[in-house]
Amino acid sequence: MIVLGIESTCDETSIAVINDRFEVLSNVIYSQVDLHSQFGGVFPELAAREHVEKILPCFEEALQRAQVKKGDLSLICAAYGPGLIGSISIGLTFAKMLSLTLNIPFVAVNHVHAHLVAPLLENKGAFDLFGAIGIVISGGHTQINWMRTPLDVETIGSTIDDAMGECFDKCAKICDLPYPGGPHVEKLASKGDLIKVPLKSCKVRDAPLSFSFSGLKTQVLYAKKNPLYQVEDICASFQHVVFKDLYQKAILAVEKFQAKAVFFGGGVASSKSLRGYFKDFPCPVFFPSKKLALDNGAMIGALGLLQYKKLGPSPLDIEPKTRIPFPHLTEKRDSLELKQVATTAV
Ligand code: ADP
Ligand code: MG
Repeated sequence: MIVLGIESTCDETSIAVINDRFEVLSNVIYSQVDLHSQFGGVFPELAAREHVEKILPCFEEALQRAQVKKGDLSLICAAYGPGLIGSISIGLTFAKMLSLTLNIPFVAVNHVHAHLVAPLLENKGAFDLFGAIGIVISGGHTQINWMRTPLDVETIGSTIDDAMGECFDKCAKICDLPYPGGPHVEKLASKGDLIKVPLKSCKVRDAPLSFSFSGLKTQVLYAKKNPLYQVEDICASFQHVVFKDLYQKAILAVEKFQAKAVFFGGGVASSKSLRGYFKDFPCPVFFPSKKLALDNGAMIGALGLLQYKKLGPSPLDIEPKTRIPFPHLTEKRDSLELKQVATTAV
């Protein structure tokens, strides 16, 4: 099978071609970072217009790089959320149109769930390591999930305020660094001393696997106003506090669920520094490479293919969704059934 994966939920237009051995034949990503950096964050209407401009060239390039033709495609997968409605609509409508005109099945994918299967594309042996803990850390989402299988996922902890990537972006803004802030904070942190600025992580009462970042953001604001502190040291301390907190929650989740592995996804997972924290972790930990950590079509194709094999196609009248809570798939009889995406044939 030759599978097309389409992602347009936020500020990346991405289309990928994968095969049924989960090999990535192409993964074209048009990032809108330059467009939005002048606003210090994603400007939704501009993002949607840019997806309109880029979707067709992205499709043509994905086919060309994979050396396949439209007629070779056997399955079309697209993210139907969560994200920005205008942006999602572009990729989703494009996918439905391809499915109709090529007369091949269509599968709607939750893009946060897709982040969790991204590491499988680079580590096929990891398919044998379920149940696992899956952690999404991106600009819009921060959650810890128990994955009984790649399709059967339940959220066991999430942020009660900002997402981790968003917190990196806000820390960067306070420190007068460009958007998106994560890579800039990481760079400065590598030159700083992590014990000079006393920052503390915030706990969520009675929810040891949940995150809260708004208090930390305020601590960074006050530290920046203190003339005794260097910005490099603020960044080093900030990054250390965030990643140590994440490490401790990952350990707790693995122990509680007796997990065989940890899978990371989302833009923050592309941090090289984060990998250092998990070097001696008690079970295997999988980080996606940068192209598979950020929003991308390959992970959409991978999850879409898994869903298709177990559940069949999605209906063409499925609509874009800003939020899709886990579990959106539930175990029923001896097969999985989609709660929100009905599984009637196209
Ligand atoms: P979304 O599309 O939901 O905003 P992405 O998966 O595209 O999320 O990831 C973007 C986020 O990742 C941004 O918030 C960015 O600051 C963060 N990020 C990227 N690289 C790093 C890094 N090296 N360290 C920390 N955060 C990072
Ligand atoms: Mg993004």
